[in-house]
Amino acid sequence: MRHVLILGGTTEGRSLAEALVAGAPPGTSERPRNDVVYPLRVTSSLAGRVARPVLPPGEVRVGGFGGAQGLAAWLREHDVDALIDATHPFAETMTAHAALAAATCHVPLLRLRRPGWVPVEGDDWRPVASLEAAAQALADGPWERVFLTTGRMGLAVFAHLDRLRFLVRSVDPPEPPYPRLLDTVLDRGPFTLHGERELLRQYAIDVVVTKDSGGAATAAKLAAAREAGLPVVMVRRPATPEGVETAASVAGAFDWLRRRFA
Ligand code: NAP
Repeated sequence: MRHVLILGGTTEGRSLAEALVAGAPPGTSERPRNDVVYPLRVTSSLAGRVARPVLPPGEVRVGGFGGAQGLAAWLREHDVDALIDATHPFAETMTAHAALAAATCHVPLLRLRRPGWVPVEGDDWRPVASLEAAAQALADGPWERVFLTTGRMGLAVFAHLDRLRFLVRSVDPPEPPYPRLLDTVLDRGPFTLHGERELLRQYAIDVVVTKDSGGAATAAKLAAAREAGLPVVMVRRPATPEGVETAASVAGAFDWLRRRFA
């Protein structure tokens, strides 16, 4: 039986597991079950950051592997035939480990990464290279109330900005260190334009900070900021490791696997 390991923690990772377990590309009722691809063993790996994650179908393992070497050992031990790195575009360490481990074990690797956001007319984006640069932009800027949507894990970088009031939204409550003046909304996407408008209004936000995560689930904040004429400090994505094949959609990843196994 072929074994596919999906490094997940994203909507795409879950959708791919669903499609592979169902035996049909996303959005179709096609059943390409054949002796070449199926039966297929599908394992999803989650980092274990979220207390109650939405679990994908198939097998699920939770927690780190212990670096690139640990991942390589796991790939060997569990006879993995293909590795799909469907982690978040900003999960840079895991992506680097996946590239290293796949090369070591000669396991085919695909990086599934949703496209980044593209500004449209009316957007006032301020691109920065890192979370640290975003914090510097806030320190230098004229703003007072920040909607910070870069995830609860990166809050320490903003902890010294005592003058600013932050609104942070996350699935689980943030843990210190974090900024002194902090409002927290516990919620899980997708988010609506109506909801984002209300948040910006209710908390009198004057700047939004986000990573260029891409995808529809969290894009409404960008439209809400555009409507309100607010600037968005946009953290650019890290690059994909050189030489790694990529797909921009779940359908693309599904096709890649089919071709690999054919
Ligand atoms: P990261 O900084 O790239 O990785 C740090 C360590 O976490 C890795 O070295 C690995 O530990 C472990 N890890 C990460 N993803 C894993 C996975 N899918 N399965 C098993 N172990 C994993 O990762 P991160 O940015 O903290 O992201 C952690 C998880 O949250 C990922 O699943 C990612 O898709 C998801 N996520 C991240 C973001 C974000 O903005 N970064 C946003 C939404 C969701 P070992 O070295 O011990 O193997």
